[in-house]
Amino acid sequence: MNTRCDDTQMSWGDVSVYVAGHRGLVGSALLRALQAKGVGRTFGWGSEELDLRDRNATFDAITQIKPDIVIDAAAKVGGIMANATYPVEFLRDNSLIQTNLMDAAHAADVNRLLFLGSSCIYPRDAAQPICESSLMTGPLEPTNQAYALAKIAGIFYVGAHREEYGRHWISAMPTNLYGPGDNFDLETSHVLPAFIRRFHDAKVSGAPIVTVWGTGAPRREFLHVDDLAKGCLTLLERYDSAQPINIGSGVDLKIKELASIVADVVGFTGTIEWDAKKPDGMPRKLLDTARVKALGWTPKISLRDGLTSTYQWFLEKVA
Ligand code: GDP
Repeated sequence: MNTRCDDTQMSWGDVSVYVAGHRGLVGSALLRALQAKGVGRTFGWGSEELDLRDRNATFDAITQIKPDIVIDAAAKVGGIMANATYPVEFLRDNSLIQTNLMDAAHAADVNRLLFLGSSCIYPRDAAQPICESSLMTGPLEPTNQAYALAKIAGIFYVGAHREEYGRHWISAMPTNLYGPGDNFDLETSHVLPAFIRRFHDAKVSGAPIVTVWGTGAPRREFLHVDDLAKGCLTLLERYDSAQPINIGSGVDLKIKELASIVADVVGFTGTIEWDAKKPDGMPRKLLDTARVKALGWTPKISLRDGLTSTYQWFLEKVA
């Protein structure tokens, strides 16, 4: 079959897709979006069945199924403290996962692959909103540079396969994501699920004060993972370039403002205290999303609606 991007009539019913990381926040949203498109077939293995850091096992699995499309949504991910505390694991595991996956996809002659990165690949002081062309124009934010370096290597590896082997592989850079399936562990999670958990726990226990990290001054952009998943499918239908492409909501807010909104959605009415000894991270990382919007994609889920449904999911599945 033809899976080139100029095939805007791509018929999802005819293709098989391997989603690496299909049980994670992004991978599970991709499966929902693929199923809604009527995809022919999907493949996925949990990490206990297939450890993508194991090169031989990864080759065996992918060469056996020979999917038409591979989506790399598998990664070791975490919030600001996890990233800063475990740089060895973040650099090593992510480098191994993506390299094994891409080498195995090449061996299986997979012509269409989508690699997912992150907005943290851009320089700490990049002009805002951040254009794709600012990649590699300045130093990275220290709290997440191990993860960012692995992802930058992944983008270049995608480009190298395009250049050397003519593969139609692409890279997408999502902003901060949230939604059902997120990680709500307070040590390792990102800020939005951490706020849901902290405010919910305080509400339930009747605690009058919740302490959160940093100064609250940094700004972050949030995108619901179901919007991201639809954006990824649009890219697979319509995008074919070595340059990574940003996917974001186009709107950012102060972490302090996010805290107020999450507290309101959860129903926590106590005091929020800020522990300025904890790191703030990047001052701002709002993505310029003009290129993905020009392909016909726009986000549909507002932050408040997305937060309300994610809190509902948390109540049903986690709390
Ligand atoms: P980042 O976007 O890579 O910096 O990762 P995070 O989502 O972990 O953090 C975003 C911002 O939220 C940083 O300024 C954190 O200091 C701040 N923050 C405040 N409270 C928390 C918390 O409880 N957990 C996390 N992960 N971040 C928090």
